[in-house]
Amino acid sequence: MIDERVEKLRQSILKVRENIEAAALRAGRDPKDILLLGVTKTVDVDIMEIAFDLGITSFGENRVQEFLRKSDIIRRQCAWHIIGRLQTNKVKYLDSRIKLIHSLDRMELAQALNTRGEKINYVFPVLVQVNVSGESTKAGVSPEELKSFIFELSKLGNIKVRGLMTMAPQTDNPEDVRDVFRTLKKLSVDIERERVENISMEELSMGMSEDYTVAVEEGATIVRIGSALFGERVY
Ligand SMILES: *Cc1c(COP(=O)(O)O)cnc(C)c1O
Repeated sequence: MIDERVEKLRQSILKVRENIEAAALRAGRDPKDILLLGVTKTVDVDIMEIAFDLGITSFGENRVQEFLRKSDIIRRQCAWHIIGRLQTNKVKYLDSRIKLIHSLDRMELAQALNTRGEKINYVFPVLVQVNVSGESTKAGVSPEELKSFIFELSKLGNIKVRGLMTMAPQTDNPEDVRDVFRTLKKLSVDIERERVENISMEELSMGMSEDYTVAVEEGATIVRIGSALFGERVY
């Protein structure tokens, strides 16, 4: 039973890696510049350990409680990313085990992270989540607000902006969201030109199971993949 699951996971990882590599090459990019982040919400720790041994060494969780529970018991030195909407009252549980927060979307959260960082002497690496599509259900700052938000963030010494993240609308045809990814890339280039102190634009977190090849073609440096690796989520 477990062997079967290992084999399935091995095949899924291989497939996703091949797709990333092909997409990168189509775009004239080095596949090594793209991090395959395993999105492991609802995935058991024993499966995560197997995934780690198969080369998925960074995991994204969207609930702080789930991160805390799993990080206590997992027997691997994985890198943890927080990818979902982060409540300000959960910030007190975060520490230097967090390699990247993808979902910084408001000043109140930035200030809470900065205060927490001061307390534990850690600079939180963060991405600013941008609501490129403008869907009201999506978190993220609007493209129009982005620049002034970034200027404000640059003043906070215990967070370090390393790039941008977006969630594309759900669609059956990934071509429909190519423009969303292209716009995020363009926004990051625009901001990079401003050369704001303490701000870097080296990371672009975009692309999920349904659309990551298009995201890679448009410049993603991190793809966040759940179901294409681990199967459909059972909540
Ligand atoms: C769940 C989730 C993903 C992964 O979704 P899949 O479609 O299963 O790949 C990526 N990013 C965020 C923010 C998520 O919440």
